Amino acid sequence: MSISTETSLLEYRQQSYGDDPTAVRDTDKYTDEYVRGFVEKWDDLIDWDQRSETEGSFFIEELRKRGVKRVLDVATGTGFHSVRLIEAGFEVVSADGSPYMLAKAFENARRRGHVLRTIQADWRWLNRDVIGRFDAVICLGNSFTHLFNERDRRKALAEFYSALKHNGVLILDQRNYDAILDHGFDSKHKFYYCGEQISALPEHVDDGLARFCYSFPDGSKYHLNMFPLRKHYACELMQQVGFQRVDTFGDFQETYHEPDPDFFIHVAEKC
Ligand code: SAM
Repeated sequence: MSISTETSLLEYRQQSYGDDPTAVRDTDKYTDEYVRGFVEKWDDLIDWDQRSETEGSFFIEELRKRGVKRVLDVATGTGFHSVRLIEAGFEVVSADGSPYMLAKAFENARRRGHVLRTIQADWRWLNRDVIGRFDAVICLGNSFTHLFNERDRRKALAEFYSALKHNGVLILDQRNYDAILDHGFDSKHKFYYCGEQISALPEHVDDGLARFCYSFPDGSKYHLNMFPLRKHYACELMQQVGFQRVDTFGDFQETYHEPDPDFFIHVAEKC
């Protein structure tokens, strides 16, 4: 059965966090969080034009200067980076653990004249489902912070590492949770790729949880429970699984004052 047929047969579910949403700190939760209603809205949230403008050619240049040809997008979502990279001439395989996301990505790519090569795969067992080695693995859009315990983070990073060729590169981004944990949330720390009409605000933040609420103009609201990953800790984990060099950019800049960027982008080299 194709992903789109399988997905259309699935029921239209609501997000559900039970009686105490802040108690939900579970890596497996992501598949329930990206219910179809939220996935349908995700592209309003991430306004593709605005995002392209803000990112510029950052990722394309980082990949090109390393001679990358084959890219594995492990957090495809609705396909923004997969499509951008295909259009820039890279060969892309698009993976994600959510069938709803992959179906939406496939549809988005097809509307732009591309056929995505999609694979449903959880990062923790990535190499069971994805065959072959890649010059680059990308994990973008604050996706890695869906992992709630260290064991899962190590497992996922080890799987990313092993999906790479000997001289491959991992590009992984995250929100600047250090700023949120240490200085509180500042409204200027908005999702840099949010559409104009959408707000994404933290409802609850502690050392083990950042729960964000996404509000849409039609009054609908969705949530995501994420792990507030500290930058230094994330870099250490990447080095511990074997990456030899990790450079971290702040909002695409090489130099920055730590609390200022909304996002950190880690570029981790295997050798
Ligand atoms: N990269 C896209 C973007 O920037 O728009 C999507 C970002 S979305 C915040 C996070 C994505 O990561 C979702 O599509 C979700 O299904 C996927 N994801 C989260 N945890 C995962 C896991 N353990 N294995 C595979 N995919 C996962």
